[in-house]
Amino acid sequence: MVIQFSNDNGNNVKYIILALLFLILYPLLSYGQIIDVHLHAYTEQDYWVATARNGFPPAASARDLLEKTIWKMDEHNIEWAVVSGNLESLKYFTQADNRFIPSYQDYAENLISVDSFVSLVKKGDIQVFGEVMAVYHGQTLNDEKYLPYLKVCEEYNIPVAYHTGGTFPGANATIWKKFRLSFGNPLLIEDVLVRYPRLKLSLMHAGSNFYENTLRMMDQYPQLYADLGVLLWLHPMEKDYAVKFLESAKKYGLLDRVMFGSDQMIWPDSITASIRFLDSLSFLTEAEKRDILYHNAKRFLNKGE
Ligand SMILES: [Zn+2]
Repeated sequence: MVIQFSNDNGNNVKYIILALLFLILYPLLSYGQIIDVHLHAYTEQDYWVATARNGFPPAASARDLLEKTIWKMDEHNIEWAVVSGNLESLKYFTQADNRFIPSYQDYAENLISVDSFVSLVKKGDIQVFGEVMAVYHGQTLNDEKYLPYLKVCEEYNIPVAYHTGGTFPGANATIWKKFRLSFGNPLLIEDVLVRYPRLKLSLMHAGSNFYENTLRMMDQYPQLYADLGVLLWLHPMEKDYAVKFLESAKKYGLLDRVMFGSDQMIWPDSITASIRFLDSLSFLTEAEKRDILYHNAKRFLNKGE
């Protein structure tokens, strides 16, 4: 619609109307934006396929996963998505869509050198350090091999995302022989928080079965965040932990450091499922859901707020 003004003040009135329209529409346009802090990137070389525990089908290839993840990001208005993977997979995903934030994952037990890590951080090719897989390697983040990397992260304000809780049934008998549930206890990394007080750290999967320890530690250490990860969709046991964790986090005033993460791995459907599950929790207000889905992550990722 074109509004015509015939008097001399016409242009001014037009600009005022446009400004008012912008002020009214802007919150509506930005409303519903989401940041997903927990996704995974692959190349065709390290891609794998399996049906999820809840029956979700896998994407057919790394290319298929990339495309379907981007569709889901468009569908759900996802502004930023942190993808974990090896350096090749991070390049593959970030070159396809600039909403992906690259996060270096130590899938292999040996990390890249500290010098390489620093130069990639300086170039912006590593913006988050995670998913730190220590628990899968029979270690914790407190293992001395991680210390120089954590020091760099603290110095360059790089957030760290650390796997806590469990993994799939029977993992120890197949590819993750050193994995132990007990290593997924966040209390075991307390020394890291004391040693690096300016380090922003997120407990992925919010500690899962150790969610009470997560809450106690978040209260003790104001720099500590948690993402919900598979708690939002994978299995009734995990979803049960999600509800208990969120109810207590609300009661204890800790919701402002809880973040949404889908942990899509190879199953793009998990993105929609986890948003829907979070949205269905009637004990959370709309404002609390918005904080979890967006604002808390924006702060964690140094994107303003
Ligand atoms: Zn993950």
